[in-house]
Amino acid sequence: MSDASGPRAYDLDALRGRLLPARDGERSTSIPELADADRDLCAIALALPDGSVRSSVDGDVPFSIQSAVKPFLFALALADTDGAALDRVGIEPTGEAFDAIKLESGTGRPPNPMVNAGAILTCALVDGDDPDERASRIVAGLSGFAGRRLEVDDDVAHSEHLLGDRNHALAHLMRDEGTLAITADDAVAVYARACAVLVDAQTLAVMGATLALGGVNPVTGERVVSSRTARDVVAVMATCGVYDGSGRWMRAVGVPAKSSVSGAIVLSAPGTLGAAIVSPPLDEHGTSVRGRMGAEALSADLGLHLFG
Ligand code: GLU
Repeated sequence: MSDASGPRAYDLDALRGRLLPARDGERSTSIPELADADRDLCAIALALPDGSVRSSVDGDVPFSIQSAVKPFLFALALADTDGAALDRVGIEPTGEAFDAIKLESGTGRPPNPMVNAGAILTCALVDGDDPDERASRIVAGLSGFAGRRLEVDDDVAHSEHLLGDRNHALAHLMRDEGTLAITADDAVAVYARACAVLVDAQTLAVMGATLALGGVNPVTGERVVSSRTARDVVAVMATCGVYDGSGRWMRAVGVPAKSSVSGAIVLSAPGTLGAAIVSPPLDEHGTSVRGRMGAEALSADLGLHLFG
């Protein structure tokens, strides 16, 4: 693709202008901080293999990462267990909502690391002797993907922990099945902090690029995880990243991605680029309405669809 039509010259503000008139969707009401999010926040960012990062207006506005953290938690769990995390969590799509009370029959494992049960488990597989150590390791690991020091929004973490009744239920269920090795409350506390890490579209695009580019952060040049880990994570994003909308996403967008209730979507186009889109109003699958539209446009305009 020539530079004139490629990602270096792509007009991200023009794309944002095409997305803004879309008024469908509702903000998550799971915690007050998300219910109060700015409906009109809309930002798109790209991170390229040469380390350049481009964004539309609002590409530096912070938001909590929420479930867009799940691929990175999976990566850190794989890294810290030398791949043994794959024995502890499944990798099959569920066709159900992100917080479905469902474990694999027979094994008691969570179905995959992109739904809540799986992410609560991967948090527990990250190195650390207590919740504070695990949360610190996670924030440090996420900072490696981001290429800058990330922070937790303590109010969001508190609300997630206090109001995440289904997450507590999932953790207790996994504890009962013998799949969760730490207490349910400790696991949810760590997961709540991971979901509350503050990013912006530019940062999230760099994180997506680090996975897309084999585990090496294109901005810092740091190898954050092995190429095998990055490949495993991107493969599971492709099949499970958009919950019960994953099949439709793969057909329409064709780029491995992870959605979240903050309205952020992180995309990892293998070998090509990372991207992020944020806009809080969500569809019935918990996917940002403008995020989906923007991802479809980016994929079409930049020729990112994996299947041509
Ligand atoms: N923190 C949210 C939860 O656990 C994440 C869900 C999402 O972003 O899809 O419910």
